[in-house]
Parts: sequence; structure tokens; C-alpha cells
Amino acid sequence: MNTIIELAYLVAAVCFILGLKQLSSPKGARNGNRIAAVGMVIALVATLPLLHFTTAGVIIIAIGVVIGGAVGSIGARMVKMTAIPQMVALFNGVGGGAAALVAVAELLRFGQHPAFAEAFPSVFSIVIGSVSFAGSMVAFAKLQELMTGKPITYPGQQVVNGILAAAILGFVIAVLAVASIPFSFVSLMVLALVLGVAFVLPIGGADMPVVISLLNAFTGLAVAASGFTLNNFALIVAGTLVGASGSILTKLMSDAMGRSLGNVLFGAFGQTHAGTAAVAGKEGRSVRSGSAEDIGTLLAYSQRVIIVPGYGLAVAQAQHAARELAEVLEKRGVEVTYAIHPVAGRMPGHMNVLLAEANVPYEQLKEMDEVNDEFKNADVALIVGANDVVNPSARNAPGSPIFGMPILNADQAKNIVFMKRSMRPGFAGIDNDLMYDPKTLMFFGDAKDSLTKLVSAVKAA
Ligand code: NDP
Repeated sequence: MNTIIELAYLVAAVCFILGLKQLSSPKGARNGNRIAAVGMVIALVATLPLLHFTTAGVIIIAIGVVIGGAVGSIGARMVKMTAIPQMVALFNGVGGGAAALVAVAELLRFGQHPAFAEAFPSVFSIVIGSVSFAGSMVAFAKLQELMTGKPITYPGQQVVNGILAAAILGFVIAVLAVASIPFSFVSLMVLALVLGVAFVLPIGGADMPVVISLLNAFTGLAVAASGFTLNNFALIVAGTLVGASGSILTKLMSDAMGRSLGNVLFGAFGQTHAGTAAVAGKEGRSVRSGSAEDIGTLLAYSQRVIIVPGYGLAVAQAQHAARELAEVLEKRGVEVTYAIHPVAGRMPGHMNVLLAEANVPYEQLKEMDEVNDEFKNADVALIVGANDVVNPSARNAPGSPIFGMPILNADQAKNIVFMKRSMRPGFAGIDNDLMYDPKTLMFFGDAKDSLTKLVSAVKAA
């Protein structure tokens, strides 16, 4: 029987790896999700014979499966695309919390003097899982606007966090050395929960997705440690994969924002430079705005147009209208591509997912590095609900909170059309000089309505 279970776990692990591989491109993402889900079902079913069922145990497991399955599937179906980051935070947090609780249960089962090899993974899982749970809950509250999304800082904060970390280390040693100390691991858990909250409070703004990704990696590590505690191969593999992919994503996102991970975690986004952001709007500078007919004509007689989608495209659900405009332009012989910034929108891959949903051909989607040199040859950079990802202050204003973040070179296009509803700033809360560029035409309105008007205008041109 054990051989069959091990084989099933092996098949599940292969499914997880193949699923992850497919998730690395928008084309294979859906399929990747399905393959990984099949792997998860195989792993779950294979685990059932390992459980020593009592009637009460079966009832508790059944209730857990029904509640968890219902919350997971209804939540995932109902969540708006723009709220995915907080949903990820929530689901990730409960994963970390579950790993910590399993470790507590195992420590209780081991009795007073567990072997080091048994106690260490449990203690690790309690600490990392609890930090991940509490941190993810704060991240959820920030992104859901249940509390301020800005960094919350106070003098001596790093020292307090350092003391908390040192206290946790002390309890870890106590639990490992003299496990008989009553409630020592409960205290450990409480301290780790407090550290999780304290760790995420000073992080805010555009840094939130990076911290969510890091917490995701933490949960993976906690789950892998639970796998060692329970001697369960599937948990070790799944947890390690989550830990590794979360760490890689964290690095990629920090790089995409031009920040080091240390700066993201301890730099309090926007705080250090508060007040130095550009305030162009308040200086009374004027902007040029165009009508749908002006812009339709400009686009219709262009040779190359690069569409820069951003968060506003997602809010307006304008992806289908964008594809329609591109098709109308292509029929007139205009070359159209989409420039995808790695942190455009509110989650990694946000724009790829939206545009794939609207059946935009994958070949038209170009990553930042691939497309940035092409802007200077483009007749029009059509910015649709994007802002921070084209803000030149990231390049030329050392005091700006986004200084150093690589941006799309939309400012190098021969003409710039900036589509948004108002002069309000983007996520980072800073003004954008590109709106005042003499080459820029503002086109105010909801992105979907505006794109629909442009389709008619191009047809009529
Ligand atoms: P921004 O948030 O910088 O700007 C979006 C713009 O869209 C706003 O200026 C807004 O202007 C406009 N907008 C909003 N609704 C509409 C609408 N219905 N129609 C037309 N325009 C609309 O978006 P970007 O994509 O450029 O940048 C993403 C930002 O989010 C970056 O700072 C990034 O670091 C951060 N971030 C990214 C995450 C990720 O993983 N991708 C996660 C979390 C944050 P107006 O109100 O005037 O319409």
C-alpha cells in the first residue's frame, strides 16, 4: 500500500512541476493550473489511507473539506480581477496558519522530549507559518482598504522588530532544548504572530505585491517543514516548490521596481521621500487634450502604434475594446503592439491575463525589455489607464518614491495619447510630468468608453 501511495505522490509532484512550468507563459497558464489541480487531487486522495479514521475524525474532515472547498471556489469565482492580490494574501495566510497549527499538534503528540530531528521542523513551521499568517492578514487588510495602505512607521520600529526576532530565537532554543517548558511553543506562536504584524505594518504602497510574494514563499517553507514533521513526501515537494517559486517571484518583482529586497522590506515605500514628489499639477501648467476625432485621425494615419495598458484598463474592463481598436487599426495597415510592464496593474501578469481573456494574440504582447527600444520609432504611444509605469520621474527625479523603477519609454514616441479620467495620480500617488509633455494629448474619460469612441473615429477617418 505504501508503495502505491509513494507512487501517487510522485505523480502529484510531477503534475506540480509541469503545472508550474506551464504557468510561466500566458499561453499555457490555464492548462498549468488544471495540471497542478489534478496533482493536488491525486495527493489528497493518496493521503486518505494514511489517516486513522474515527467517526468524529471523518465528520471533522468532511466539514473542513465542505467549508474550505466552498469558500475557496466561491471566493475565487466571485473575486474581481483587481482584488486578486488580497485574495492571494488571504489564501496564502491560511496556508501558513494551517502549517503552524499542524506543527503545534505534532509537538503535542511528540510529548515532552522529542528528538531534535522531530522538534526542529515543527518549531520552524510554527514560527514561519505564524509570521506568514499574521503578515498576510495585515497585507489583506491593507489591500482591501480595511486599514490604511500606507506604511505605518514609528521611531525605533526596527529595534522593536529586532527585539521580537531575538525573543523568538530565545523561545526556539528553549523549545528545542527543554521542550517540557509548559506553553513555550504557544508563546513562540504568539510572538511570531506579533512579528508577522510588525513586519508588514511598515510596508505599503506599491511594495505590497512584493511582500505578498515573500510571504507566499514563507508559507511554502512552513508547509515543507510540516512535510518533514509528518514524514510526508508530497508536502515536502509542494512546499519547496512554493518556497522556491515565491522567492524567485519576489526577486523578479523587486528588480522590476528597481529596488533591492532590503529596501522594499525596511525602506517604507514613499516615506523617506515624502513631500518631494513632483507637484506639477499644482504649478498651474497646462495640458493639451484632444477629441476622439483628432486622436482617431492621428491613429488611423500612423504606421506604428504601441498600446501601453495599465491598471485603469482593468478597472474599466476595456481589454475587449482595446483589441477591437487594434484590429480596426491593423485592417488599415497600422502595426500595433502592446507594451507590458512587469508591475502594470495590481498583480504580476495582470495585463497578460486581461489581454489573453480578450483573445489578443500573444505575439502582440511585448515585455518591457523587448519593446523599450521600439518606442522611438512609434508614431503613437497610446497609454490606456497606465500611469506610474510610464512616469519619467522614475528616471530623472532622484527624490521620487519610484526613482530607479524601470519604466516604459512611452515618452520617446513621436506622439503620446494619455487616456484616463482625470489628472489624478496613479498608485504611487505622484504626479506624472508626461501629462504635460508638449507631445502629449490627454483623452479624458473611462477607458472603455474612450476606446469605443476611438474605434468609431478610426473607422470614420
Ligand atoms: P497606476 O495605478 O499608476 O495608474 C492607473 C491609472 O488608471 C490612474 O492614473 C487612473 O487615473 C487611471 N484609471 C483608473 N480607472 C480608470 C478608468 N475606469 N478608465 C480610465 N483610466 C482609469 O497604474 P499602472 O498600471 O501604470 O501602475 C501600476 C502601479 O501599481 C505601480 O505603481 C505598481 O508598482 C503598483 N502595483 C503593482 C502591482 C503588480 O503586481 N502589478 C501590485 C500592487 C501595486 P484616473 O483616476 O485619472 O482615471
